[in-house]
Formats: sequence, C-alpha cells, structure tokens
Amino acid sequence: MPWNYETDCENCGIKLKIEEQPMNVPGGKDKEQAYCPECNHLVAEHMTSGFITARVLKQ
Ligand SMILES: [Zn+2]
Repeated sequence: MPWNYETDCENCGIKLKIEEQPMNVPGGKDKEQAYCPECNHLVAEHMTSGFITARVLKQ
C-alpha cells in the first residue's frame, strides 16, 4: 500500500509531504531516501520497492 505523510524539514523548517511512489515490480525492496527540495537535507528514508518523493506543501 502506498502511503504519504507530512513532516517538517529538520534543517530549514519547511513543510514537506513525503510520498511513496510504488513501481509495480515484485520484490526489489530497497532503502530509498528523499531529500528536502529547498536545502537538500535528508528528510525520509524507508524500505520500499518503489521510490520516495518529498515535495513542498503550499502554505
Ligand atoms: Zn530543508
């Protein structure tokens, strides 16, 4: 199941939405990271068979 949640960047404090983007490929679970679009700080790291995106939430 894909998931998403909101978080704040620890480095610059911007509000971000972290989303899993599943790729419908069996297996291949791997550790994926997402980075703050503003400051490039690591904001999420999860095991997933897809990949993770971080986008800025509009105020
Ligand atoms: Zn940031």
